Amino acid sequence: MKLYSTLDKKVKEIEPIKKGQISIYSCGPTVYFRMQIGNIRAYVNWDILHRALLYLGYDVKRVMNLTDVGHMTSDDDFGSDFGEDRMDKQAQKEGLQPLDIANKYINAVLDDFRALNILAPNGEIIPEDLNHKGVQEYGFTRATEYVEEMIEIIKKIEENGYTYETKQALYFDVTKIKDYTIFTGQNLNEKEVGVREEVGVDPEKRNPADFVLWMKRYGKYENHIMNWESPWGNGFPGWHIECSTMGTSLLGERFDIHTGGVDHIPVHHTNERAQNIGAFGHSVVKYWVHNEWVVNKDESKLSKSKGNAPYLPNIVKLGFDPMDVRYFLLSKNYRTRIQFSIEALEGARNAREALVRRLRELGDTKGNVIPEYIERFKKELENNLNMSGVLALINELLKEDFPKEDILATILDFDKVLALDLEEAITKKEPMEFPSEVEALLEKRMLAKKEKNYEEADRIRGQVEEMGYKLLDTPEGQKLEQV
Ligand SMILES: [Zn+2]
Repeated sequence: MKLYSTLDKKVKEIEPIKKGQISIYSCGPTVYFRMQIGNIRAYVNWDILHRALLYLGYDVKRVMNLTDVGHMTSDDDFGSDFGEDRMDKQAQKEGLQPLDIANKYINAVLDDFRALNILAPNGEIIPEDLNHKGVQEYGFTRATEYVEEMIEIIKKIEENGYTYETKQALYFDVTKIKDYTIFTGQNLNEKEVGVREEVGVDPEKRNPADFVLWMKRYGKYENHIMNWESPWGNGFPGWHIECSTMGTSLLGERFDIHTGGVDHIPVHHTNERAQNIGAFGHSVVKYWVHNEWVVNKDESKLSKSKGNAPYLPNIVKLGFDPMDVRYFLLSKNYRTRIQFSIEALEGARNAREALVRRLRELGDTKGNVIPEYIERFKKELENNLNMSGVLALINELLKEDFPKEDILATILDFDKVLALDLEEAITKKEPMEFPSEVEALLEKRMLAKKEKNYEEADRIRGQVEEMGYKLLDTPEGQKLEQV
């Protein structure tokens, strides 16, 4: 398997630490809001990776965190340790406790994952009845359940001499890591510009890029709702320490792949890497991989605040199937930006429906997979998850001369990775189509009934029945059956 390694700045052959096994840590959702389509992309893309590795025969160990601690870091490229606690803010807005907010939005994440056929981190299908109560069994980890472990790791970082303490917080001193900005190649002075605004919030903070490991319940955060005891006083952990902790607690001091969005690179992953070195004296993650953004037509990032970033249920309300969304998000490689628009989504729907129609024509008898095509499919997956290659391969196979049922069986086998519910889609009966004259008569009859012109309605019924249909009036409206 080859993937694009962000640190190596190139596509690289993945050499697992343990033969045959791949360990993956995926930065998961922050659960005080509903994910929009730009957030969802990461989970579809990395689900493809997860399924591809399973298909290729790897034993996959995967963890995904759920950030249910209200962290201070803002979404901008530089991050700020002194922003608002949005978990607290959302809790106040909705009149709920922070943990209730977290549970509510964990359930929403599970709904979206289920609808989009995203596997749980443990590789299982997310059951219908799974909610926030049982997520741990499925490989999701909640930050609030790892605070003790976070404190242990912070202690290690402190013992190794990477921290300093102020009245407000315990900080990580980024100047102690020689290649701190290795991801971006920025020098610290450049970074300084971005975080300048927050300097002064804590007059004792030494370097603008230093970040909080433990925030004390002091000053601005005196009344912070979520808080824990620690060697540095009552307070709460910084955001980045959560991922360093859960990754190493569950996958070990060295693991293979860490996934996230490109927006995590300059701060979150830069800091996570620094913490790992601070705690363990070496890099923990072998390959960092990042997915690109979903953008508007003008290439600007989708943004919730600008109202151009819909949630999955909004999209479904417009008449799209969640599988249209999955198709849309998987049809491009994770390294490519995807332009989002309703027209683009319609394009994905048309493509998916056309594929389903073609497969339906192949019949429904079970055939045998075509080994040559299975091999070629694996090659495309191994080639940095070349999804456009996979879609082209399907089109090529559909034109081949093999027995129809073998072509069908082969494409349904590909669907173990694509997870577009193709088998279900081809066996589902399409709504019956009627000639346009009949449709027109039904329309006329509906109007006649509205106007209480029952004579006219009965006359039209007669006409329809003469054409060979049985007309039923049901609570949902008129229904036709072919006689
Ligand atoms: Zn993370």
